[in-house]
Amino acid sequence: MENFRKTISHPLSIKIQKILIFLCAIILGCGICFGSVSFAVTNDEDPTITPPSVGYTIVVDPGHGGIDPGSIGYKTKVKESDLNLKLSLMLADKLRAVGIRVIMTRTDENSLADGLTGKSFKKEDMRLRKEMISKIRPNMVVSVHMNSFTNHVLRGAKMFYDKTSEISRKIAESIQKQFAENLEASNDVASVGDYYMLKCTESPSVIAECGFLSNARDEQLLLDQSYQEKIVNCIFVGIIDFLNLK
Ligand SMILES: [Zn+2]
Repeated sequence: MENFRKTISHPLSIKIQKILIFLCAIILGCGICFGSVSFAVTNDEDPTITPPSVGYTIVVDPGHGGIDPGSIGYKTKVKESDLNLKLSLMLADKLRAVGIRVIMTRTDENSLADGLTGKSFKKEDMRLRKEMISKIRPNMVVSVHMNSFTNHVLRGAKMFYDKTSEISRKIAESIQKQFAENLEASNDVASVGDYYMLKCTESPSVIAECGFLSNARDEQLLLDQSYQEKIVNCIFVGIIDFLNLK
């Protein structure tokens, strides 16, 4: 877990650490010095946000929003953006309940770039998500989506990770394990994904594709409150297992 924390260190934090290490070494000696460093790393966070009791920050990112509905339900025409938001809010509640600091990229049906249209909308919406994440420097980013494909047979929940991040892979596998054990027709393995949200940040980032809105059975399940709770619980337990917070 120590390696996990080190991997997400920001260059500025490393600089501050080096300065503090130097000052501490002079005044207090090396033994006390490292304790001061870990305090300094969290000291530049937004003071208006209550510090988490377990020391982790997670960005929960409901995909799409505003004029971008994402996929549309095969039978019911439900908007992916609405389901993404609902499941993300449920996930945020569960994570906060165990003392994890959660910041969401959006908390209502609007996108981050409302007012724009066409290509400039999507580009700006993505850019603003990236900007938000790089300011927060979370321990991980979890994007929530619903899948869709032209072949209506495909179904099941699947995790995607960034091929350049070992931590991203481990988080995705931990959540995928829960999907495989608890959901019907779920995939057994997480996959490498070539997506903007996986590559736009230095923080380990994963995408949860919770099921296929192009498959009638998945769509029916994804609209069911108890199944939504089941999926959210899989993501939650996968994260908790990875963070070793049990
Ligand atoms: Zn999507």
